[in-house]
Amino acid sequence: MTTTAPAPIEVRCPADGRIVGTVANQTRDEVGAVAAKLREAQPAWEALGPEARGKHLRDWRDWLLDNERRLGELVQSETGKSWADASMETALGVDIISYLTKNGPEFLAPRKVSPHSPAGATKKMRVVYRPYPVVGLITPWNGPIGNPLLDVVGALLAGATVLTKPSEYTPLSWIEVVRGWREDIGAPPVLEVVTGAGETGAAVVDAVDMVMFTGSARTGKRIAARCGERLIPCSLELGGKDAMIVLADADLDRATSAAAWGGFLNAGQACISVERVYVEAPIYDEFVRKVTEKVAGIRVGMDAPGEFATEIGAIATEDQLQIIETHVEDAKAKGARITTGGKRRSSGQFFEPTVIADVNHSMDCMRHETFGPTLPIMKVANEDEAVRLANDSPYGLSASVFSSNPDRAQRVADQLQAGAVNMNNVLSNLFQLTLPMGGWKESGIGTRLGGANAVLKFCRPQAQISER
Ligand code: ADP
Repeated sequence: MTTTAPAPIEVRCPADGRIVGTVANQTRDEVGAVAAKLREAQPAWEALGPEARGKHLRDWRDWLLDNERRLGELVQSETGKSWADASMETALGVDIISYLTKNGPEFLAPRKVSPHSPAGATKKMRVVYRPYPVVGLITPWNGPIGNPLLDVVGALLAGATVLTKPSEYTPLSWIEVVRGWREDIGAPPVLEVVTGAGETGAAVVDAVDMVMFTGSARTGKRIAARCGERLIPCSLELGGKDAMIVLADADLDRATSAAAWGGFLNAGQACISVERVYVEAPIYDEFVRKVTEKVAGIRVGMDAPGEFATEIGAIATEDQLQIIETHVEDAKAKGARITTGGKRRSSGQFFEPTVIADVNHSMDCMRHETFGPTLPIMKVANEDEAVRLANDSPYGLSASVFSSNPDRAQRVADQLQAGAVNMNNVLSNLFQLTLPMGGWKESGIGTRLGGANAVLKFCRPQAQISER
């Protein structure tokens, strides 16, 4: 019996709809064969040691820098991002490689351990960190290069091999980055990419020893369930509904600028973008007026590489665009006020930067992740109500609070249920490589990036005991 191979996937540019590439929808057998090759290559990679592995990573960093513009252009072609958003991705990778190759060898060094009682006095004990042989890395479309780089560097430095599966919407730029590793810098065959949609991703989960996943909570739960059956660990970075709280004593210029930046980075398609704002009643009208002015000034479109002519680009998928439209329409139908924007553009997958005032928790835009260029704002009576509403969400990725009184800001921060709280700023936890990065509740689970964990999360500790 012959089976037909699944149809290839066409990759389109969301800014103008043109087809920019085609990739295979790889089968379970193909994924298994790639994983087997990685497994074979892993012992030699681990034996190299962190310094030598770091040298390959630094060569890759130089290659990323040399090819920055070309890679940014590729990211733009499959996401429709502005140059400002697209060019950030390689910069992130360069930063991670610099930080981890400098500090990784120390993070991975064996630790001496003392016995807990005199009975162990004759023993010499230490803990060494041994990598999972094959790590599976499944990533979404909002950061085609930045997302995988965030984890792949730590995994490779730890001595693991990595099987990556980029989003079916944005595989092209990552394929090129992996080609650079193999062909241009001639690094060992310890990093591979497979392409396809959910079925290919499920095959990755079945072929590896540990899974790192970034994407929706819905898919994350399915992956965690499967990892549970296989009894392998997974680390999940999922969605968010990040709340921003603006207290009456806040610096309004600062808070409105932060909202216009935090809600609209990457056209709102960032897991830690500001998804809802709670403003204390005395400054509510003024906040809405000022932020509307700023958001109305955001320039939209996919500019040319190197141009910085627009701030935000396209919405990556038609499905996502429909979610955004549905949230805006639902809010309008329930009595919210659109103070700027509110609709998609007539050509290309663009949505106008939008402020939705007078919202409440009966509306989808306050309950479900929108992942778009919208800023819903709700009036609250006081600090306690703001905290209660901010915590009234299945998500808990990050949050922010604005107040000119540091004690008040601290008091609010200490009550918020989120993996990170920014005080008088937004997104300041973004790419802080020494901080744990990840969410509470349905925003994620598993060991977090951050300092030594960026490499240790890909390792199993091994206790080594010898008699003196
Ligand atoms: P979004 O693209 O909205 O974040 P997903 O969370 O479904 O949506 O996708 C993130 C990544 O997970 C993509 O690379 C996708 O192909 C992959 N994926 C989707 N379904 C599965 C699955 N059942 N198992 C493994 N990976 C999956």
